Amino acid sequence: MSPRILIVEDEPSICENVVYALEADGFQVASAGTGRDALEKLKSQPDFSLIILDVGLPDMTGFEVCKQVRVRQSLPILFLTARSSEVDRVVGLEIGGDDYVLKPFSPRELVARVRAILRRVSALPLPVAGNGATPLVIDDTRCQAVYFGTALNLSRYEFRMLKAFASHPGRVFSREQLMDHASEEPDASMERTVDTHIKTLRARMRGVRSGIDPIVTHRGMGYSLVESWPAAEAQA
Ligand code: CA
Repeated sequence: MSPRILIVEDEPSICENVVYALEADGFQVASAGTGRDALEKLKSQPDFSLIILDVGLPDMTGFEVCKQVRVRQSLPILFLTARSSEVDRVVGLEIGGDDYVLKPFSPRELVARVRAILRRVSALPLPVAGNGATPLVIDDTRCQAVYFGTALNLSRYEFRMLKAFASHPGRVFSREQLMDHASEEPDASMERTVDTHIKTLRARMRGVRSGIDPIVTHRGMGYSLVESWPAAEAQA
């Protein structure tokens, strides 16, 4: 099945051109003219692979739409903006867009960008689980961990610790090793807070799936991520 793209743009002529170009290239496309319409479509149709999001929408900014989307979903977002002054914000840490296209643009260029993002996202290295399926995906380009399809709200330290776990499922990490992975400038106070970060990580993951604790405590040694996920749970 070809990927589904949502284009959020209030100018009909731009929207039509983009829809036409994407469909001609084999994509399935839906469109929304307002931020609210976009959020409703994303809620009722969770199978989009990417959003093309105009910054200037009539009811809210594309930035606000992006923030609301990212609370629930981790799909890539390509921004359309008319102002080069907005570009830093679009791709910066605050908004975290995956790419942008400056208006005016050629639909062909936009389609090429869409293809590039989808290639990049699908090529992300995934942690290897015992049964070949994993509900935990580490998205390094966005510093985001996605658990059972839900982006976890993690601090920088927590993300890095989880990334270390996911890179070697089953391996036991000592608190000192976790500290090294989590912090660029580790210090003694960080080691003492490893337990706190682990507690937060567990709470965040429990918030997504209450019955599973994928982080294993090894008394006197440290922590590890489960090596294999129960097949039914991994696919849930
Ligand atoms: Ca607009």
